[in-house]
Amino acid sequence: MDSANAAGRLGELAPELRAALLAWGQAHGRHQIPWKLTPTGAPASPGEQLDPYPIWVAEVMLQQTQVQVVLPYWRRWMAAFPSVEALAAAGEHDVLMLWQGLGYYSRARRLHQGARQLLGQPFPRDLEGWLVLPGIGRSTAGSILSSAFDLPFAILDGNVKRVLARLTRSPRPPARVLAGFWQLSELVLDPRRPREFNQALMDLGSSLCTPRHPSCGTCPWQGSCAAYAAGDPAHYPVKDASKPLPFQVIGVGVVLNAAGQVLIDQRLNEGLLGGMWEFPGGKQESGEAIEATIRRELVEELAIEVAVGEELISLEHAYSHKRLRFVVHLCRWLSGEPQPLASQQVRWVDPQDLGAYPFPAANAKIIAALLERLQPGERVPSA
Ligand code: SF4
Repeated sequence: MDSANAAGRLGELAPELRAALLAWGQAHGRHQIPWKLTPTGAPASPGEQLDPYPIWVAEVMLQQTQVQVVLPYWRRWMAAFPSVEALAAAGEHDVLMLWQGLGYYSRARRLHQGARQLLGQPFPRDLEGWLVLPGIGRSTAGSILSSAFDLPFAILDGNVKRVLARLTRSPRPPARVLAGFWQLSELVLDPRRPREFNQALMDLGSSLCTPRHPSCGTCPWQGSCAAYAAGDPAHYPVKDASKPLPFQVIGVGVVLNAAGQVLIDQRLNEGLLGGMWEFPGGKQESGEAIEATIRRELVEELAIEVAVGEELISLEHAYSHKRLRFVVHLCRWLSGEPQPLASQQVRWVDPQDLGAYPFPAANAKIIAALLERLQPGERVPSA
């Protein structure tokens, strides 16, 4: 069904779709998500305002992560930074420590910047006011506005795109016809109960209209769903042919000095893992032995010479846009004062103190392997 036909059909069906979804949401939706409760712990009544700050934090955490994973992080975050003022006053190190494990760390830094930007101002009640904050897109802004103020703003996260793609049997990938999908989300939104409607729509996408095996038998929209009628819901949303993810090998040096301290560096603030700490290393070049990669990278990034010793651990990690294999070797520092030539700063730390620094998930496994490798009483493994 093309966009114009889909919009026309959904426009006609909207009253019926809203009523069915709201009834289903009341019976089967999630009503105890903590950032959507009033201070007394009750679900918000229609039109009742909630504190936007906890919702904002949750929405940013949810951009790449599911509710069940986010919950413990959100609770720790709210205990540490219960208000915009507390977050704005926090240091970046503490902010990254609390985000550690959630991934996509630029989200934490942007949330932090956003709190500083918003400090002393009322929370915006329109899209533009949220979209000027770093890291906030239209769907996140719509979700905050509808959740906090019960205002009629549509959302379009992955779950909603999937449901709408099936409902209309859209022949094109949502990313290629985004304006059309926004129009559909706005058309079905219930302007009188936007908070409840958006929540039910997200719940439908995450519990019934799941990617592989949608539970159409119990779906409130079954009677209007074009993909169900055609018997092929799992074919939607249509995807572009996917290219294989690029694969790279990264040589990593766990460099120890004579005092048993290990060398770590803090990444520049740009990019996915900006501001996180890590063990130094870099990409293996074609035809290069991994030991040579590590020696070369440590000269280029830190201006130090090392003796590359035995392999400590090798592990793979998949990001959304690439797959990496980290080959990690123990190294003995030989010469050169470490310089942050490709990072913000470098530091020698006691291995037992590594837990005080925010590291990406892959590095956490390296730390565990190092601590296991260090024998009691032995400070420098033979490298
Ligand atoms: S009928 Fe099936 S495919 Fe259609 S919206 Fe419901 S769960 Fe999704």
